[in-house]
Amino acid sequence: MSDRSGHCICGAVRLHVADFPPEFGACHCETCRRWTGSAFLAATVPPERVHVAGGDHVARFRSSDWAERAWCARCGTNLWYRLTRPGGAYEIPIGLLDDTRGLKFSSEIYVDCRPDCFAYEGTAARATMTRAECFEKFAPSTEE
Ligand SMILES: [Zn+2]
Ligand SMILES: [Zn+2]
Repeated sequence: MSDRSGHCICGAVRLHVADFPPEFGACHCETCRRWTGSAFLAATVPPERVHVAGGDHVARFRSSDWAERAWCARCGTNLWYRLTRPGGAYEIPIGLLDDTRGLKFSSEIYVDCRPDCFAYEGTAARATMTRAECFEKFAPSTEE
């Protein structure tokens, strides 16, 4: 693993992630689809590894009882999805990174919510979960 850095379009917010995970996934849920305009491609990172510069420019929206979504208030770039419970992980969009080389696209969730007009190449080789499977796996922990 290696450190990776990234930033929003205007550069007001910069992220540095220590030991950026080698794998990332896509979420096709309705909220991510609306938020990104397509699907949310992100890696899961523990909060202690995420360092944010330019935090004054970060705007946040509580998109569910258990999570927030953040963006740059100046340029609108989506910055992260984060579980709001103490120690909750960040989902850092890989599109923010200065260098995406070497990352592996390893999972897709809410696959049954994906519009039928597009698909990522290689989905069959990835770990996938449907909406119902996600609810079954994540619901108990999100109700804390
Ligand atoms: Zn910005
Ligand atoms: Zn989603």
